[in-house]
This record gives sequence, structure tokens and C-alpha cells, in this order.
Amino acid sequence: MPREIHVRNPRTGTPDHTIVAAGDDEIIAAAGALRARQSAWAAQPVERRAEALRAFGDAVARHRDELVARLETDTGRRWVSQLEVDSVLTSIERTCRYAEAAFAPEDPAPTADPDVHVTGDLVPYPVVAVISPWNFPFQLALIDAVPALLAGSAVLLKPSEVTPRFIPVLRACVAEVEELAGVLTVVEGDGATGATMVAVADAVCFTGSVRTGRAVGRAAAEHFIPAFLELGGKDPAIVTASADLDAASSAILWGSTINSGHSCMSIERVYVDHAVVEEFTEALVAKAEQVELAYPDIGDGQIGPIISDAQVDVIREQLEEAVAKGAVIRTGGTIQYLGGGAYLRPTVLTGVDHSMRVMREETFGPIIPIMPFDGEDEAVTLANDTEFGLSAAVFAATAEQAAPVAHRLEAGAVSVNDVCLTGMFPEAEKNSFKSSGLGASRMGPPSVRRFLRRRALLMRGSAGIRPWYYDGTPTQTEER
Ligand code: NAD
Repeated sequence: MPREIHVRNPRTGTPDHTIVAAGDDEIIAAAGALRARQSAWAAQPVERRAEALRAFGDAVARHRDELVARLETDTGRRWVSQLEVDSVLTSIERTCRYAEAAFAPEDPAPTADPDVHVTGDLVPYPVVAVISPWNFPFQLALIDAVPALLAGSAVLLKPSEVTPRFIPVLRACVAEVEELAGVLTVVEGDGATGATMVAVADAVCFTGSVRTGRAVGRAAAEHFIPAFLELGGKDPAIVTASADLDAASSAILWGSTINSGHSCMSIERVYVDHAVVEEFTEALVAKAEQVELAYPDIGDGQIGPIISDAQVDVIREQLEEAVAKGAVIRTGGTIQYLGGGAYLRPTVLTGVDHSMRVMREETFGPIIPIMPFDGEDEAVTLANDTEFGLSAAVFAATAEQAAPVAHRLEAGAVSVNDVCLTGMFPEAEKNSFKSSGLGASRMGPPSVRRFLRRRALLMRGSAGIRPWYYDGTPTQTEER
């Protein structure tokens, strides 16, 4: 029996789209077909794969308007959808360059024995499963798929069931590049579909919540495949007394509310030196009140609807609990239902502490809780008092003053005198710390290299087995 999934429109609140989840048989057959075609794909020079990916980029550019229109319906926001498609286009070119560098010829390296040299070749994982979330549906579907393909892997991709309307257009783009069509299969489905994918793949790239990431990690361990996990965050920002409060409040407002706070690296906790906390809060509240909802027209304002139904409940529960425990809402704070969509204006909270869920759990909404600190040590202790370690931000008068604080933060990327720079500068290699992820960096050159296993070739110049293998004569290394 085909399993249908009904998809809710975030602007109207009503289901207006249906997908059919790929069944186990379909997933198994797709993985088998990909595995059969992968070796020919990997055997080509990297330049040929890069050519295919660049052609795919051209197809995406040709379908840009259609993709943006679908993403608009999926997410209820316009300019973020445009940004997503455009960022994929630039990422393809950058990742092609990383791949070409990864496969650059290398000279054999000498060893302790002048007769033995080491070289090697790079062997991609045959089939990589890529499972992605709903917050940037197009960009996050391709962020791992593109480097895996360039490495020579075949990819079985499943975007989120919450935002799947763009999938047919993505498939059309793939179909326009014949070489790619055999090694990139996009399926529709939900968690059950994803779980089957993990069971048939040779490696899995998962972007999503910590909870699901742990389940994917356990399943990957069971199947003995590597899992590259990019999970949730609870990113702190530290504002020291010397910081430019105008610049810091603008950056933090943006970093907390971009995409309605539906960003893994959005600022979700703000720690401000007690000497400037009130001045900072007033500046932030004044700016937050200037932000408009993208309603009634999608082209209006900056804050779109909360995309996922489940997230509405998380945001509401965290707000209610914080207020019940003594938090003060300085602006915002009410989830409004407009035209069927759920919206929350930028919400600034003070009077918060670490007993509250809003300070401990991922919110994924436009809420900015502010807590004062007394001295650098307390700021660092508070920022590190979390299970997450995705990214962070530090503000001070100069980058040099902020850097010592940045070095003490348990996070994979720290923006200094700005926020979310990791999202804008994907050249920067980074790891996700603590529960925020596992595995090699998906930014920078390792984005491609992590899909390549190295087969070392240890080459002896003169043929033949040396007598000491049998008679106990010491090797050259042992003689030293
Ligand atoms: P989610 O964990 O609910 O789902 C993510 C994907 O996993 C979906 O495609 C879903 O169908 C699939 N899935 C669900 N159960 C599965 C299972 N048992 N096995 C395999 N796949 C399964 O996450 P979400 O709500 O879609 O996304 C929001 C989360 O993603 C947030 O926590 C956010 O911080 C995180 N995120 C992280 C990054 C990052 O780079 N670190 C980027 C974006 C989003």
C-alpha cells in the first residue's frame, strides 16, 4: 500500500500537497541501481564529474524561478528562498574546486627505507544516503550531496517531508544532466524512509535534530557505516562592555530572527556585561519593534510564518515556561494566527536563567533571551553551560579583545564582532562540538575529502622478498 503524507502550507495552515513515501522495496532497488552505476562514475577523472555538476548548476539556474516559487510555498518566505537557490549555485563552483584539489596528483613520499615509497589512491564510499531538514530545504538537501558526488560517490537523497514541494523541480534539474541522473536519486518520504536509507547505504549524511541524529548514529553503528551528523544548536552571543552596542544589537537581532529563527546557527542566548545590559536591551527592543511580519503579502516584512506545526508547540511551551518562572517579555511574545499561518514577532526576554527550557533547549524561533554576566569567566561559563556546541559569537571593541573569549568557547565556529559568519563563509573548515554533531567538516576542502577513503600503496622499488623476513636479520628501521 503506498503511504501518503499530507503536507501543511505554512501560510494557510491547511494541507495542500501530498507526497507518497518511497517504500522499502523502492529504496533497496534505488540503492542497488546506484551502487551498480557508481563505479563508472568514480572511474572518471574528477574534471568530468565537475563538468556534470556545473551542468547541474546551469539546470538549477534555468529552473531558478520555478524552484523559488516551490520553496516559497514550502517555507512561506520569498527572499530566503531566492537566497537558498543562489547560494547553491555558488557552492557548486566552490566545491568543484575543492574536488579538483583533492584529486590533484601527488608525488610518492619517501619512507625510512629508501627503497620504499608511499603513494595511494582515493576510494569514495559507493552509496551515500543524504537526509535533510525543512529549515533551508533546498540548500541543505544539496550541501552534502554535491561534495559526495564530486568525490565519486552515488547519492540517495531524501529531503524533509515538511517541505517537499521543490523535489519534482530538483528531479527535473537532475534529469537534464544525463551523467548525473544515474548517480543521484531523490526520493520522497519521512523518518521511516530515512531509516531504510541508512540500512542500505555505505555512509550517511544527516542534518536535523539531535534526537533524530542520535537515532541515525545508532542505526549507522549497527550497519557499521560512518555517520556525518550536523545537528541542532543553542548558539550563545557574548557582548562585552567595550562592544559597539549599536552594531552588536543589529547583528544579534538579525542572527536571532533570520528565517524566523529557523536556523541551526541562529543566536538563541545572549549574555551581556551587566554594565551595559540595559542599554543593549533597550537598543535591541527598539530595533526588534521595527521588524515586520511577511504578512499579508509574502513580499512584506522580514518574519515569515513558523514553518513546522511541531515547532509552533515547542516555541509556545518554552515561552510559557519562561514567563511562569519569572522571565519578562520586553517585546513580542505572542504567537499570532494570521490567515492560518502562525507568526511570532522578534521576542526579547529578560529575567531568564538556566533553569528555563528557553536557555537550555533549541527554540528554533525568533526569541532572544538576554542574561547579564559579571566578568569574562562568568560569560564563558554560561555560554559553555549547554549540551550544544554548534557556533557562537563574541562582541568587543576590537577583534583582538574578543579573540581570547572566543578561544574559550566550546563551539565549532565563533563569529567575532558579527554573527552566523559560518553560514556566509563556507570556506572555513569547522566541526560541530558536543551534541551538535559528529564527523569531519562539511565546510571547506574536507567537505569533499570526508567521502574519500585512502588506499595506501607502499611501493618497494626492488622486487623480491628480503631474506630477513625469515632469518630474523634486523630491518633498517630497527637498526637505527
Ligand atoms: P528532524 O530530525 O525531525 O528531521 C530531519 C530529517 O530526518 C527529515 O528528513 C526526517 O524525515 C528524517 N528522519 C526522521 N526520523 C528519521 C530516522 N529515524 N532515520 C532517518 N531519518 C529520519 O529535524 P527537522 O525538524 O527536520 O530539522 C530541524 C533540526 O535540524 C534542528 O534541530 C536544526 O538545528 C537542525 N539543523 C542543523 C543544521 C546543521 O548544519 N547543524 C542545519 C539545519 C538544521
